[in-house]
Amino acid sequence: MHKDGFNRRTLLTATTALGAAGLLPRRGLAQAGAAAPETRPAATLPARGEFVVRGAHILSMDDAIGDLPSGDVHVRDGAIAAVAANVNAPGASVIDGKGMICMPGFVDTHWHHWTTLLRPVMQADDPKRTYFPVTFALGLHYTPEDSYRSVRLGLAQALAAGVTTTHNWAHNVRSPAHADAEVRAMRESGLRGRFSYGTPLGMPNDKPMDLADVARLKRDIGKDAMLTLGICSRNVDNASAGTRGSVDPDMAKKEWGAARELGLPITLHTSGTGAIPILNKTGLLGPDLQLVHPLNTSAEDQEALAKNGVTYSISPLGEAGRAGEMQFPEMMQAGVKVSISIDNVTAERCDCFACMRMLQTINKHRTGGKFALTTKRLVRMATIDGARDLGFADVTGSLTPGKRADLILVRTDAPNIAPIGDPYDALVQLAQPSNIDTVVADGRIMRRNGRFTALDHEKIISDASDAVADLKARAKWPS
Ligand SMILES: [Zn+2]
Repeated sequence: MHKDGFNRRTLLTATTALGAAGLLPRRGLAQAGAAAPETRPAATLPARGEFVVRGAHILSMDDAIGDLPSGDVHVRDGAIAAVAANVNAPGASVIDGKGMICMPGFVDTHWHHWTTLLRPVMQADDPKRTYFPVTFALGLHYTPEDSYRSVRLGLAQALAAGVTTTHNWAHNVRSPAHADAEVRAMRESGLRGRFSYGTPLGMPNDKPMDLADVARLKRDIGKDAMLTLGICSRNVDNASAGTRGSVDPDMAKKEWGAARELGLPITLHTSGTGAIPILNKTGLLGPDLQLVHPLNTSAEDQEALAKNGVTYSISPLGEAGRAGEMQFPEMMQAGVKVSISIDNVTAERCDCFACMRMLQTINKHRTGGKFALTTKRLVRMATIDGARDLGFADVTGSLTPGKRADLILVRTDAPNIAPIGDPYDALVQLAQPSNIDTVVADGRIMRRNGRFTALDHEKIISDASDAVADLKARAKWPS
C-alpha cells in the first residue's frame, strides 16, 4: 500500500480501452499527405478503481447535498457511489482528505488546444509575435502530428490545473486527419470534453466547411462516452476576412443547418460588434448555440440571447486585456447562462482560481458591487454551470451520486492559503493551481500528491518542442 493508504497497483494498472493507437484512420492520413503520426501514446490511463476520499471539506455544488465540513466521497468504477458525512465502503482504498477541499473538477467551456505548442514563438512585447499573428502564420503549416502534440500538451496542463472537462475549440482543422489527431489526443488524455470541428485557417469565406467529414466524425464520436462533437463557426458579422474567417448569413445558415440536422451544438466567437443582430434576424439563435467573449453587446442583444436560451463563455484572463467591457453582469442579469473558459494557454495561463478572481475584480470595478457575485456563485460558474453549457450536467459538474467521478482535492495547508477560513473565499481569493493535490477524471486518479500518476509529462513537452522547431523551419519563421 502507498503511504497515504492508496493502493499503488490501482494507479499503475494500465488499461487499453482508451488511447488505442488505431484511432487515426488511414484515410485521413492519406488525404493530408502528412507523415504518419507517432502511434505510441504518452501514457496509458490509470484504471478506474474503488476508493473513498475521507474527511475532506466537501463542496458538492449539488443543492440537495450541500457542503460538508468533513465528509467522504466514495468512487467506484468511475462513478460517484456516495457523498456523505460518513460513508461505509469496506474494501475501498482510502485517500486521506483531511486538510483538503474536495470539489468537482473545473469545467472549461472554450479552449484552442491546437495553439499550445506555439508558446516558444510568442512574445508579448513584440506585436509580430503575439497570439493572433503567430497562430495564423504558423497555423497554416500544421500537420496532423502538430495538432496531436499541441492538444496533448494543452490537456496535460488542464489536468495539472484541475480541469477535468474541456471544450476543444478547434478552429484550424486543416483536414480529416487533423480532426482525428485532435480527437485522438483527447481520447488518450482521460479528460471529458467536446470537440468542436472548425475550418482551416486561411480557407476562403465562400467555401463551406467539410460537412461530410463532420458527419463522419459524428458517427465515430457517437460511440464515445467521454466525448461529444460540435462545430465552431467562422465569424458571422458581414466583415471582411479576419484571420479566422467570416461568413455571410447564407453560409451560416448552410453550415449551422447541417450541424443542427446532425444534432450538433454550435459555438461562435463574437468579439466585435454585429453578429447577434444578424443571427437574431435570420433566426439562427437557439439553445444549442454558445457564444464566446461577452463584449460590446447591446441590451437588445442580451434580451434576444436570454429569450433564445443562448449561452455565453467568458475567458476572464484574456478578455480583461481586450477593448470593450466584459459584460457578464449584464448577461447574467438578463438571464443568459455564463460559464468560464481558458481560451488558450499560449498567451494565457490555465488557472481557474485566477479566472474566478478576475471576474470578481472586474465585477467590482464595473458595477461597484451592485451586481451580487458571491464566491460560491463563481465556483458554480467554473464547475456545474460549465457542465450545463456543454450538455454534460447529467454526468459531471457536481459531486452527486450517480454522476461520473470528476473531482479535485485542493490542499489548504500551503503558505498561500493556510490557515483556511471560508472555503469559497479561499478558492477565489487565495488558491492557485499548485494547491491542487489530486485530480480524478471519470474515476481515474490522474494526479496525486501534485504529480501525474501515469502521464509522461516530460515526453509530452519534448514532443511539443521538437514539433514547434520543425514547424518554424517549414514555415521559414525567423528564429
Ligand atoms: Zn477563442
